[in-house]
Amino acid sequence: MNSNNYPWFEKQWTHLAGIPKEKFPHALIATGVNGIGKLDFCSSLSQLLLCDNPSNEIGCGECNPCKQYLAGSHGDFLSMNILEGKKSIGVDQVREMIHWVNLTKQSRQKKVLLIPQAQLMTNQASNALLKTLEEPPNDVVIILVAEQLKSLMPTIRSRCQLIPLSGPNQNTFDTWICDNSADWTCNSESMPENTGEIMPEKTAKNNDLLFCLSFQRPLKAKQLLCGKQLVQRKSIVDLLLSVIIQKKAPILVAADLFKLNNDDVFYWFQSLLFDFLYIHYKVEATKLINKDYMQKLKSVSGQLNILFLLDLQKQINNLNSFEKNALNPQLLLDSYIIKWSECLNNS
Ligand SMILES: [Zn+2]
Repeated sequence: MNSNNYPWFEKQWTHLAGIPKEKFPHALIATGVNGIGKLDFCSSLSQLLLCDNPSNEIGCGECNPCKQYLAGSHGDFLSMNILEGKKSIGVDQVREMIHWVNLTKQSRQKKVLLIPQAQLMTNQASNALLKTLEEPPNDVVIILVAEQLKSLMPTIRSRCQLIPLSGPNQNTFDTWICDNSADWTCNSESMPENTGEIMPEKTAKNNDLLFCLSFQRPLKAKQLLCGKQLVQRKSIVDLLLSVIIQKKAPILVAADLFKLNNDDVFYWFQSLLFDFLYIHYKVEATKLINKDYMQKLKSVSGQLNILFLLDLQKQINNLNSFEKNALNPQLLLDSYIIKWSECLNNS
């Protein structure tokens, strides 16, 4: 396995790296949940397609194209990212990109266009891209990345080779965390202090919890270990549970939660709702996310209205970060904590 990529993508990597360049598909769609490394996979693939001298099925890192790619200055590589302040990729951006695609190549290898959040293309933008996908210039490879395939137009999907990517199983996850976590620059202040909570130590028990807390996504796990999310988790989960267990006033709890990171609050809120649904539907205990809270959660789950819970979970699932940071995030949080308190039967 090459060192640029993640072991859980080995099968897909071996397949793509084994295709001779002259037969390489002109368009691909890589799909999979966030936090498993699909963009890194596509970046490594872009480098491989640009490299003059691939070795062991990876970009060599030594040739000029590789150096230019790694420095972000390769003229035959373009990453079409969403523009700052925008919510979608518009048709003008795609037209500019098509112009670039049709320019003469600067090197001997492929020309690569990467679209990291392809699902954000407007319909008009997708239609403009479609024309290029129908009649692609020689030696151009277009790589679209999206969380869900269904977020792309069927006409786009049908013109691309599909590369479904998924995260690792627990063994692969554990090994990867153990092998790599020592190199991560983690902010020591961000670690919970002597609480017996999850720490970056290489113990099977911690990795087991980390596997669940990250929703089985290794890069999310890395982010959890290196950021402040784990420290805040206990506060957030305890506050949320206080609405149900101690029947604390939702508005007061919301005010406390509002002092914490909004994205974290929604992440752990979501995880808690998943857990209550798992418990209700008797999903095996190993699937629980906040495993360390299992007894507490089980003791109150019977008091929750499952239909309200399902509805709330759906609403939070569909919230995007734009809405979470909307004009009045405090009102938004208030309304969700009130809905949460209403999940309690006879509330
Ligand atoms: Zn190279």
